[in-house]
Amino acid sequence: TPILEVKDLHVSIDGQEILRGVDLTVRPGEVHAIMGPNGSGKSTLANTLAGRPEYTVTSGKVLYNGADLLKMQPEDRAREGMFLAFQYPIELPGVRAWQFLKAAIDAKRVHQGEEEMGAREFDRLLRSKVEEVEIDPELVRRSVNEGFSGGEKKRNEVLQMALLEPKLALLDETDSGLDIDALRIVSDGVNRLRRPDNAAVVVTHYQRILNYIKPDYVHVLVDGRIALSGGPELAEQLEARGYDWVREGVDAAS
Ligand code: ADP
Ligand code: MG
Ligand code: MG
Repeated sequence: TPILEVKDLHVSIDGQEILRGVDLTVRPGEVHAIMGPNGSGKSTLANTLAGRPEYTVTSGKVLYNGADLLKMQPEDRAREGMFLAFQYPIELPGVRAWQFLKAAIDAKRVHQGEEEMGAREFDRLLRSKVEEVEIDPELVRRSVNEGFSGGEKKRNEVLQMALLEPKLALLDETDSGLDIDALRIVSDGVNRLRRPDNAAVVVTHYQRILNYIKPDYVHVLVDGRIALSGGPELAEQLEARGYDWVREGVDAAS
Protein backbone atom coordinates (compact mmCIF):
# COMPACT_ATOMS: atom_id res chain seq x y z
CA THR A 1 0.00 0.00 0.00
CA PRO A 2 1.12 3.56 -0.69
CA ILE A 3 1.85 5.70 2.37
CA LEU A 4 -0.27 8.52 0.98
CA GLU A 5 -2.96 8.55 -1.68
CA VAL A 6 -4.69 11.79 -2.56
CA LYS A 7 -7.58 11.26 -4.95
CA ASP A 8 -9.37 14.06 -6.78
CA LEU A 9 -9.09 16.32 -3.76
CA HIS A 10 -11.13 19.53 -3.77
CA VAL A 11 -10.59 22.02 -0.95
CA SER A 12 -12.21 25.37 -0.23
CA ILE A 13 -11.39 28.23 2.09
CA ASP A 14 -14.24 30.57 3.00
CA GLY A 15 -16.37 29.01 0.27
CA GLN A 16 -13.76 29.59 -2.38
CA GLU A 17 -12.36 26.55 -4.14
CA ILE A 18 -8.56 26.48 -3.94
CA LEU A 19 -7.69 22.87 -4.74
CA ARG A 20 -9.58 21.67 -7.78
CA GLY A 21 -8.91 17.95 -8.08
CA VAL A 22 -5.45 16.97 -6.82
CA ASP A 23 -4.15 13.43 -7.30
CA LEU A 24 -0.95 12.27 -5.65
CA THR A 25 0.41 8.86 -4.71
CA VAL A 26 3.43 8.54 -2.42
CA ARG A 27 4.95 5.09 -1.92
CA PRO A 28 7.42 3.87 0.70
CA GLY A 29 10.97 5.04 0.07
CA GLU A 30 9.96 7.99 -2.10
CA VAL A 31 10.62 11.71 -1.83
CA HIS A 32 8.20 13.96 -3.71
CA ALA A 33 8.57 17.68 -4.32
CA ILE A 34 5.51 19.84 -4.84
CA MET A 35 6.41 23.03 -6.67
CA GLY A 36 4.40 25.81 -8.22
CA PRO A 37 3.89 29.55 -8.42
CA ASN A 38 2.74 31.62 -5.46
CA GLY A 39 -0.94 31.17 -4.71
CA SER A 40 -1.23 27.89 -6.60
CA GLY A 41 -2.42 26.01 -3.48
CA LYS A 42 0.75 24.32 -2.21
CA SER A 43 0.27 25.38 1.40
CA THR A 44 -3.44 24.61 1.13
CA LEU A 45 -2.54 21.04 0.25
CA ALA A 46 -0.04 20.80 3.12
CA ASN A 47 -2.45 22.37 5.63
CA THR A 48 -5.28 20.09 4.52
CA LEU A 49 -3.09 17.03 5.04
CA ALA A 50 -2.20 18.42 8.47
CA GLY A 51 -5.91 18.72 9.30
CA ARG A 52 -6.15 22.47 9.83
CA PRO A 53 -9.79 23.28 10.48
CA GLU A 54 -10.14 26.31 8.17
CA TYR A 55 -9.64 24.11 5.10
CA THR A 56 -12.84 22.41 3.95
CA VAL A 57 -12.59 19.28 1.87
CA THR A 58 -15.58 19.43 -0.48
CA SER A 59 -14.82 16.21 -2.34
CA GLY A 60 -12.17 13.60 -2.91
CA LYS A 61 -10.26 11.22 -0.67
CA VAL A 62 -7.01 11.03 1.23
CA LEU A 63 -5.71 7.66 2.37
CA TYR A 64 -2.81 7.37 4.79
CA ASN A 65 -1.45 3.80 4.93
CA GLY A 66 -4.79 2.79 3.50
CA ALA A 67 -6.87 4.51 6.22
CA ASP A 68 -9.12 7.56 5.76
CA LEU A 69 -6.84 10.43 6.79
CA LEU A 70 -9.64 13.00 6.69
CA LYS A 71 -11.42 11.20 9.53
CA MET A 72 -8.33 11.36 11.75
CA GLN A 73 -7.81 14.15 14.27
CA PRO A 74 -4.67 16.21 13.61
CA GLU A 75 -2.97 14.87 16.76
CA ASP A 76 -3.71 11.30 15.72
CA ARG A 77 -2.12 11.98 12.34
CA ALA A 78 1.06 12.86 14.22
CA ARG A 79 0.78 9.84 16.50
CA GLU A 80 0.41 7.62 13.46
CA GLY A 81 3.73 8.84 12.16
CA MET A 82 2.99 11.95 10.12
CA PHE A 83 5.41 14.78 10.70
CA LEU A 84 4.38 18.24 9.68
CA ALA A 85 6.90 21.04 9.49
CA PHE A 86 5.63 24.46 8.64
CA GLN A 87 6.71 27.77 7.29
CA TYR A 88 5.88 29.61 10.47
CA PRO A 89 6.80 27.51 13.50
CA ILE A 90 4.88 28.28 16.66
CA GLU A 91 6.57 29.65 19.75
CA LEU A 92 5.82 28.03 23.10
CA PRO A 93 7.08 30.33 25.85
CA GLY A 94 7.84 28.42 29.04
CA VAL A 95 7.93 25.04 27.30
CA ARG A 96 11.49 23.87 26.90
CA ALA A 97 12.39 22.30 23.59
CA TRP A 98 13.35 18.97 25.22
CA GLN A 99 10.02 18.84 27.11
CA PHE A 100 8.15 19.39 23.88
CA LEU A 101 10.17 16.64 22.19
CA LYS A 102 9.59 14.19 25.03
CA ALA A 103 5.86 14.93 25.04
CA ALA A 104 5.72 14.22 21.31
CA ILE A 105 7.57 10.91 21.70
CA ASP A 106 5.44 9.88 24.67
CA ALA A 107 2.19 10.71 22.88
CA LYS A 108 3.23 8.43 20.05
CA ARG A 109 4.27 5.64 22.42
CA VAL A 110 1.10 5.81 24.51
CA HIS A 111 -0.92 5.78 21.29
CA GLN A 112 0.88 2.56 20.34
CA GLY A 113 0.10 1.05 23.74
CA GLU A 114 3.62 1.51 25.11
CA GLU A 115 4.73 3.26 28.27
CA GLU A 116 6.23 6.74 28.35
CA MET A 117 9.95 6.82 27.81
CA GLY A 118 12.06 6.82 30.96
CA ALA A 119 14.05 9.97 31.71
CA ARG A 120 17.41 8.24 31.27
CA GLU A 121 16.48 6.57 28.03
CA PHE A 122 15.16 9.84 26.66
CA ASP A 123 18.29 11.65 27.76
CA ARG A 124 20.49 9.15 25.93
CA LEU A 125 18.34 9.30 22.81
CA LEU A 126 18.27 13.09 22.84
CA ARG A 127 22.03 13.31 23.23
CA SER A 128 22.66 11.01 20.30
CA LYS A 129 20.22 12.87 18.06
CA VAL A 130 21.57 16.27 19.09
CA GLU A 131 24.99 15.02 17.99
CA GLU A 132 23.65 13.52 14.79
CA VAL A 133 21.80 16.69 13.78
CA GLU A 134 24.74 18.81 14.95
CA ILE A 135 22.78 21.26 17.02
CA ASP A 136 23.99 23.22 20.02
CA PRO A 137 22.91 21.16 23.09
CA GLU A 138 21.91 24.44 24.79
CA LEU A 139 19.11 24.89 22.27
CA VAL A 140 16.97 22.10 23.73
CA ARG A 141 17.03 23.81 27.13
CA ARG A 142 15.45 26.96 25.72
CA SER A 143 11.72 27.68 25.20
CA VAL A 144 10.41 26.24 21.94
CA ASN A 145 11.27 28.60 19.10
CA GLU A 146 11.27 31.65 21.39
CA GLY A 147 13.99 33.95 20.12
CA PHE A 148 15.32 31.19 17.88
CA SER A 149 17.01 32.33 14.69
CA GLY A 150 15.70 30.97 11.40
CA GLY A 151 18.49 28.42 11.35
CA GLU A 152 17.85 27.37 14.96
CA LYS A 153 14.15 26.84 14.25
CA LYS A 154 15.11 24.64 11.34
CA ARG A 155 17.60 22.67 13.44
CA ASN A 156 14.98 22.17 16.14
CA GLU A 157 12.54 20.96 13.49
CA VAL A 158 15.08 18.52 12.09
CA LEU A 159 15.86 17.31 15.61
CA GLN A 160 12.14 16.65 16.12
CA MET A 161 12.06 14.75 12.89
CA ALA A 162 15.14 12.70 13.81
CA LEU A 163 13.62 11.79 17.19
CA LEU A 164 10.17 10.91 15.91
CA GLU A 165 11.33 8.95 12.84
CA PRO A 166 8.15 9.72 10.93
CA LYS A 167 6.62 7.47 8.33
CA LEU A 168 5.64 10.51 6.29
CA ALA A 169 7.41 13.84 6.63
CA LEU A 170 5.60 16.80 5.15
CA LEU A 171 7.58 20.02 4.86
CA ASP A 172 6.15 23.29 3.67
CA GLU A 173 9.12 25.48 2.92
CA THR A 174 9.15 28.90 1.48
CA ASP A 175 12.88 28.67 1.15
CA SER A 176 12.90 32.30 0.02
CA GLY A 177 13.59 33.31 3.60
CA LEU A 178 16.13 30.58 4.27
CA ASP A 179 19.83 31.12 3.93
CA ILE A 180 21.98 28.41 2.40
CA ASP A 181 22.94 27.03 5.83
CA ALA A 182 19.32 26.63 6.88
CA LEU A 183 18.48 25.01 3.54
CA ARG A 184 21.30 22.58 4.06
CA ILE A 185 20.12 21.75 7.60
CA VAL A 186 16.64 20.88 6.36
CA SER A 187 17.95 19.00 3.34
CA ASP A 188 20.49 16.98 5.32
CA GLY A 189 17.72 16.13 7.79
CA VAL A 190 15.42 14.86 5.05
CA ASN A 191 18.24 12.94 3.35
CA ARG A 192 19.43 11.38 6.58
CA LEU A 193 15.91 10.29 7.42
CA ARG A 194 15.39 8.43 4.15
CA ARG A 195 14.51 4.77 4.66
CA PRO A 196 12.89 2.16 2.44
CA ASP A 197 9.76 2.26 4.61
CA ASN A 198 9.17 6.00 4.95
CA ALA A 199 8.52 8.92 2.62
CA ALA A 200 8.70 12.69 2.40
CA VAL A 201 6.73 15.40 0.62
CA VAL A 202 8.59 18.68 0.31
CA VAL A 203 6.56 21.72 -0.68
CA THR A 204 8.68 24.47 -2.12
CA HIS A 205 8.47 27.52 -4.35
CA TYR A 206 12.08 27.59 -5.42
CA GLN A 207 14.17 24.93 -7.07
CA ARG A 208 17.12 25.78 -4.80
CA ILE A 209 16.33 23.34 -1.99
CA LEU A 210 16.19 20.56 -4.57
CA ASN A 211 19.91 20.99 -5.17
CA TYR A 212 20.30 19.35 -1.77
CA ILE A 213 17.29 17.06 -1.54
CA LYS A 214 17.05 14.76 -4.52
CA PRO A 215 13.36 14.06 -5.05
CA ASP A 216 12.22 11.01 -6.97
CA TYR A 217 9.23 12.90 -8.31
CA VAL A 218 8.48 16.55 -8.92
CA HIS A 219 4.91 17.83 -9.29
CA VAL A 220 3.91 21.28 -10.42
CA LEU A 221 0.76 22.68 -8.90
CA VAL A 222 -0.94 25.40 -10.94
CA ASP A 223 -4.32 26.90 -10.06
CA GLY A 224 -5.16 24.12 -7.62
CA ARG A 225 -4.29 21.21 -9.89
CA ILE A 226 -1.16 19.21 -10.60
CA ALA A 227 -0.41 20.41 -14.09
CA LEU A 228 2.74 18.43 -14.64
CA SER A 229 4.69 15.61 -12.95
CA GLY A 230 8.14 14.30 -13.71
CA GLY A 231 11.50 13.32 -12.30
CA PRO A 232 14.17 15.55 -10.75
CA GLU A 233 15.00 16.98 -14.18
CA LEU A 234 11.67 18.80 -14.09
CA ALA A 235 12.93 20.95 -11.21
CA GLU A 236 15.88 22.01 -13.34
CA GLN A 237 13.62 22.90 -16.23
CA LEU A 238 11.50 25.01 -13.89
CA GLU A 239 14.58 26.77 -12.58
CA ALA A 240 15.65 27.59 -16.12
CA ARG A 241 12.26 28.45 -17.60
CA GLY A 242 10.08 29.57 -14.70
CA TYR A 243 6.46 28.55 -14.27
CA ASP A 244 4.79 30.39 -17.14
CA TRP A 245 5.34 27.69 -19.73
CA VAL A 246 3.59 25.16 -17.47
CA ARG A 247 0.65 27.54 -17.09
CA GLU A 248 0.52 28.04 -20.86
CA GLY A 249 0.49 24.27 -21.29
CA VAL A 250 -2.45 24.01 -18.88
CA ASP A 251 -4.39 26.71 -20.69
CA ALA A 252 -3.71 25.09 -24.04
CA ALA A 253 -4.96 21.74 -22.74
CA SER A 254 -8.16 23.04 -21.20
P1 ADP B 1 0.87 28.67 -2.17
O1 ADP B 1 1.31 28.01 -0.92
O2 ADP B 1 1.02 27.82 -3.38
O3 ADP B 1 1.51 30.00 -2.38
P2 ADP B 1 -1.72 28.91 -0.85
O4 ADP B 1 -2.21 27.52 -0.67
O5 ADP B 1 -1.12 29.57 0.32
O6 ADP B 1 -0.71 28.95 -2.10
O7 ADP B 1 -2.89 29.83 -1.38
C1 ADP B 1 -3.73 29.45 -2.46
C2 ADP B 1 -4.85 30.47 -2.61
O8 ADP B 1 -5.68 30.38 -1.47
C3 ADP B 1 -4.38 31.90 -2.70
O9 ADP B 1 -5.20 32.55 -3.65
C4 ADP B 1 -4.61 32.43 -1.32
O10 ADP B 1 -4.88 33.81 -1.35
C5 ADP B 1 -5.80 31.65 -0.84
N1 ADP B 1 -5.76 31.43 0.60
C6 ADP B 1 -4.84 30.72 1.27
N2 ADP B 1 -5.08 30.70 2.60
C7 ADP B 1 -6.20 31.44 2.76
C8 ADP B 1 -6.99 31.80 3.90
N3 ADP B 1 -6.66 31.39 5.14
N4 ADP B 1 -8.09 32.55 3.69
C9 ADP B 1 -8.43 32.94 2.44
N5 ADP B 1 -7.74 32.64 1.33
C10 ADP B 1 -6.63 31.90 1.48
MG1 MG C 1 -12.33 17.06 -9.93
MG1 MG D 1 2.75 28.44 0.53
